[in-house]
Amino acid sequence: MKKLFYNIDTLATMDQDEQELKNAYILVEDNLIKEIGTGKPEITGSEACESYDMSGACCIPGMVNTHHHLYQSMFRNVKGAQNLKLFDWLTFLYERWKYIGAAEVYNAALVGIYEMMKTGVTTTSDMFYLYPKGTQRLFDEEVEAAVRTGVRFHPCRGSMSLSKKDGGLPPDSVVQSEEEIMADCERVVNKYHDPNPGAMLRIALAPCSPFSVTESLMRTTLDFAQKNDLLIHTHLAESPDEEAFCLERVGLRPVDYMDKLGWLNERAWFAHCVWLSEEDIEKFKRTKVGVAHCPASNMRLGSGTAPIVEMLEHPEIRLSLAVDGSASNDTGNMIGEARNALFLQRVSKGADSITPRQVLKMGTMGGAKVLGMDDYIGSLEEGKVADFVFFRLDTLEMAGGISDPISALVLCNPGTVYMSVINGRIRIKDYQVLENEMEQIIGEQNRMQKRILEREA
Ligand SMILES: [Zn+2]
Repeated sequence: MKKLFYNIDTLATMDQDEQELKNAYILVEDNLIKEIGTGKPEITGSEACESYDMSGACCIPGMVNTHHHLYQSMFRNVKGAQNLKLFDWLTFLYERWKYIGAAEVYNAALVGIYEMMKTGVTTTSDMFYLYPKGTQRLFDEEVEAAVRTGVRFHPCRGSMSLSKKDGGLPPDSVVQSEEEIMADCERVVNKYHDPNPGAMLRIALAPCSPFSVTESLMRTTLDFAQKNDLLIHTHLAESPDEEAFCLERVGLRPVDYMDKLGWLNERAWFAHCVWLSEEDIEKFKRTKVGVAHCPASNMRLGSGTAPIVEMLEHPEIRLSLAVDGSASNDTGNMIGEARNALFLQRVSKGADSITPRQVLKMGTMGGAKVLGMDDYIGSLEEGKVADFVFFRLDTLEMAGGISDPISALVLCNPGTVYMSVINGRIRIKDYQVLENEMEQIIGEQNRMQKRILEREA
């Protein structure tokens, strides 16, 4: 089946050539981009072709979110956690998060994913690390939700093994033993991981953070990932509290600790990376690690400004954008995150330190590189999978700003996507997510949140 999107006002390929085509078209056959050009092509052959006139819209590659905790879409704006910094915020929320079960994980994942799709995401990662005792197979719930939404998904089987009684931060009831964790990692990798090019679903492994897992689990995870050719992910250098914790517990700063564990390598990407020294950046450059920059979360929790401008000087470091969990962002607005990234850097580094196109590239090709999927997503090129989104330019919010439409996506307010295509399937049309039960999903989310927040912490 072919689909033709034509009369596109501006199409940014975001490939090596960084082309921006006017009056462009994009022809899709099954799940692949067959042809990109200008004008309107002659469609030959007897096969039917759906045509979409995209006048007044611009097209970019689908955005790639590299760090999230989808279950947290049920914990936005929780009173009592509105004004706390990372460790206090975590300690407060763990006592509420411990009540999640299968139904909550499934519903929250639908909400989190659809929200991101509306703001440009076609591929997302997730780090799901919370497995309250007595719950079964929660990871599978979010995979099922993601399959329902049609998003391209690269979740991490997260883990926590260091609870309060062992000097960690989470309560005992939400951590697992190393044996339980590794057995479930093996199970979900066998069940879901698709290493083939074009995959819709891949699995990575993610011990939650230096302050919630043991050194032994970090090493076992790395070993398992190497044997099974998987990516690894964790939070790193997010706050001064974390640095103090690492110095006290292992006598090393967070990046040096990762270095000691063998975690600085091309399989790894790290969320936040706010508190980096020049030596840390040098290590990142040498080891070609990936970074998930989460500006809204860093501002919300007062964590600080990640040295993105400094890292952009080293193309070896794979930089990407992420919304982080909705409990520390309160939205999951991906195109908004590009704007946050731009402005946060400019606060201390000046207006000429970073451009709208650079942050958009972090949010597309940068994410694809971090997730090891740049051979088939991240840019609009013939032969890649058909993952792209359209934003309208003929809206009130964009009026007077479209002399440079691509930069306007970051500097002006593009709103939500007008159309989203993922793996050749239309998932958003006329601004509407193609989901029949959206009202029920929203209602359930609010009912579930209320039930949990009313329980004793
Ligand atoms: Zn996070």
